[in-house]
Amino acid sequence: MSISSQIDSPLLEALRSGRDILCVSHVDPDGDAVGSLLGIGWILRRLGKDPVLALQDAVPVEHRVLPGASDIITSGSAEYESAVRWRSFDLVVCVDASSPDRMGTTYNPELHGDATLVVIDHHVTNTYFGNLNWVDPDCAATCQMLVYLADALQVPLEGELAECLLTGLVTDTLGFRTSNTTADVLGAAMRLMEGGAELGPITQRTVNRRPYSVIKLWGQVLPRVQLEDGVIWTSVSLDDIAQSGSAEQDISLSSFLVTAEEADISAVFTERQHGDGVPMIDCSFRAKPGFDVSQVAFSLGGGGHPPASGCTLPGPMQDAIERVVPALKAARQNSIADDGADDDHA
Ligand code: 5GP
Ligand code: MN
Repeated sequence: MSISSQIDSPLLEALRSGRDILCVSHVDPDGDAVGSLLGIGWILRRLGKDPVLALQDAVPVEHRVLPGASDIITSGSAEYESAVRWRSFDLVVCVDASSPDRMGTTYNPELHGDATLVVIDHHVTNTYFGNLNWVDPDCAATCQMLVYLADALQVPLEGELAECLLTGLVTDTLGFRTSNTTADVLGAAMRLMEGGAELGPITQRTVNRRPYSVIKLWGQVLPRVQLEDGVIWTSVSLDDIAQSGSAEQDISLSSFLVTAEEADISAVFTERQHGDGVPMIDCSFRAKPGFDVSQVAFSLGGGGHPPASGCTLPGPMQDAIERVVPALKAARQNSIADDGADDDHA
């Protein structure tokens, strides 16, 4: 049985019959958020629809070249106020977000609550917050799910759609290096390449690229790195960010830290100024295969996947670190205990 046949028919029917459609994804969008948002947009256009695509935060610079990216409306903009806020949609499609808060200001239950909410996501921590939910944690990216959705809706995997979907597959698997890079992932990627998506340029402008200011920022915070009981972590303050001149939201440092041979779990704590002046701490976690950081993130109000997850906690920095690091050490011990006498984590 092909995976596309496992998609519920009410969900397919909702997509086929939607007339006025809003598509959204998560705050601080990454390659899978942008790729799957644009991807669902291209799929719906092939079905003759004219969906509105919205994100709370700006599209990261490396994804602005994706076809359709310039049509994404940022909530809070004048365009959002006029085109989205007061419009009555009959269908909202949310991709790559595990809980309603992740949609940020793109979705307002008071204004959009009459629309059917369809959730398509691959996070194991998904809270099934839609009217119709398709959640598949066996998929490495929401973009992989959209490959199967396109099949089910008989939309060809080519052109703009293929390029957007391959981007999410490349970024969520760090260039096909994560442990969830199965034969199905490579099969989906192969079909997207056969449809014209170019793996080389996509890899080059995403996982093989970072600005000099980010390298400077790494240099600034790496001297503070700590390793205890298999957990490695560091922190990034507002001052560090100002000194480096970095404007990046995602400095991908947790993925680098977890490569330490002596570590099983990594954490990076980043201070962020929020609207009301209270600093919040963005926490980014990574785990080696066999370890799980998703449950710690979920228990702290966040979410994610066993090898990569995150949450946002109130500051100050030291409080967040003191809450999180012991929880990560305990999660590591649990994974080792669960694995029993023949564990291979040693
Ligand atoms: P990253 O460390 O790359 O920011 O995020 C890794 C994973 O954790 C992603 O799948 C992302 O969706 C999830 N994640 C990161 N931060 C948060 C958060 O504050 N809340 C939730 N629910 N998930 C998060
Ligand atoms: Mn994703």
